[in-house]
Amino acid sequence: MNDGTVTLATRRKTRQITLAHPTNPVTVGGDARVSIQSMTTTKTADVEGTLQQIYALAGAGADIVRCTCNDADAAAGLAHIVPRSPVPIVADVHNNHRMALAALEAGVHCLRLNPGNIKKADHIRLIAGEARDRGVPIRIGVNGGSLDEQLYQKYGGKVTPEAMVESAQIEMAYFDEVGFDQIKISVKASSVPLMVEAYRQLSEATDHPLHLGVTEAGPPPAGLVKATAGIGALLAEGIGDTIRYSLTADPVEEAKAGRMLLEALGLRERKGLDLIACPSCGRAEVDVIKVANDAQAALEGFKVPIQVAVMGCVVNGPGEARDADLGIAAGRKRGHLFVKGKVVAVVPEDEMVEQLVHWANVIATEGVDGALTHADAGAAAEADADRAALLVEQGADANDSEQRVELIRKNLVDR
Ligand code: SF4
Repeated sequence: MNDGTVTLATRRKTRQITLAHPTNPVTVGGDARVSIQSMTTTKTADVEGTLQQIYALAGAGADIVRCTCNDADAAAGLAHIVPRSPVPIVADVHNNHRMALAALEAGVHCLRLNPGNIKKADHIRLIAGEARDRGVPIRIGVNGGSLDEQLYQKYGGKVTPEAMVESAQIEMAYFDEVGFDQIKISVKASSVPLMVEAYRQLSEATDHPLHLGVTEAGPPPAGLVKATAGIGALLAEGIGDTIRYSLTADPVEEAKAGRMLLEALGLRERKGLDLIACPSCGRAEVDVIKVANDAQAALEGFKVPIQVAVMGCVVNGPGEARDADLGIAAGRKRGHLFVKGKVVAVVPEDEMVEQLVHWANVIATEGVDGALTHADAGAAAEADADRAALLVEQGADANDSEQRVELIRKNLVDR
């Protein structure tokens, strides 16, 4: 699924596992679409609060939601949450193997175990055997920050990609002993180069599906950039079957970011707005940042895939955004509205956003061709006149670059 001719690297073939939610099962790996995950921040014992957040996450695009299972109250909460959740639930278990067994008893659709935390081989085998009997997959969630001490020492007192991959392999060997192979694996680190290399090595070493993430990425915007750099780089190489942004923010932002990344990479069909806008420059005839933000807010909940362009000037804007479904460019206190590059209306500057919303709705109900039939007869000529007048006022070369170049050359010769 992409927007045309250019494609990313072919996705690496992995085995497939299923998180068997009764009405909304999610497959991970193989030819399944890359899924989006997030994690609740509520106390899992708070059943209503947690379910509210799970619904918000599912609404924002999360296919799978993880909840911590850190004590008996959390496990009891899971027993009430799982049957009412719209998406599969993963229980996050840290140090206590009994919590993993309790989460399985609560009916969760997947477990996440950190090999650095549950270390006793008997405990790991016990959990894997129980998960196998219930048909529940497990994520082996290696985390650079909580790598097993022995491995840490073995690799020279450092967290290395090799050490992280070995940690996952040791855990897999315990699972093998009880014939359990419903596994997905993550090797997260807060360093982007470290996690990228660890996942590359892991994808060479195994064909189990991989869960991508940059752990402890921090608050946006830096956290968003780090997570996007790491997850995006790997997806572009064809590595990764499910993703999670770990942001210090409302988890709904994680789900939104995951969806936006997959849409941007052409790995997920766009469901709503894709707003493109010029960065603005000295030619801008309007406050592009404000108009773009207002348009984004006004069209945010749009349920039809549509690309909308906000361009600061009518001189370059319409040409640069000619492929957008709908766009507006500013000039001489007016907005030139165009549909697939054809001017359909010229509107007052203070109605630009309102008119964008109106035309977006026309496209949503009648399609692009239908919208074009509503074009104002004189709009194209009016737009041409505005553009020509601006070119006379500003010149085709708004920065007077030709004169400047001449002056620079002349000065160089004279000096
Ligand atoms: S569209 Fe116009 S205002 Fe926007 S960056 Fe291009 S030249 Fe500048």
